[in-house]
Amino acid sequence: MSEQRICTICDTAVEGRQPCPYCSDETNWRDVSAMSGEEKIQELERWMTLQVEMHLLYKRLHQIFGRYVATHELTSTNKIHLHAELVTGIQPTFDDVVNLIPENKRVGPFNIKGSDSEQE
Ligand SMILES: [Zn+2]
Repeated sequence: MSEQRICTICDTAVEGRQPCPYCSDETNWRDVSAMSGEEKIQELERWMTLQVEMHLLYKRLHQIFGRYVATHELTSTNKIHLHAELVTGIQPTFDDVVNLIPENKRVGPFNIKGSDSEQE
């Protein structure tokens, strides 16, 4: 007997650990242009329990935000910035997104200098 779960996005029963077939079908996704900021926040929260394959999650996040959303922006600490963005419509700069990563955890070629350090 296979177990079922309830999809947090569409509230339908889904078999075991399979992606939700309804939510995996992009034609079932709401038109974000008709959604308020509050509705987008509610949708974001429903998608935070993984119900679809990762590429579809990021595709939906791209639709909701109108930009690529980095994984580190999705932490519970950083999500407050995402909520604010959905209400205000003001998108963060690249520096804003990088600066959400604790300085001692940044790796790679992101030698981001804030306005304070550009006076060298
Ligand atoms: Zn679903």
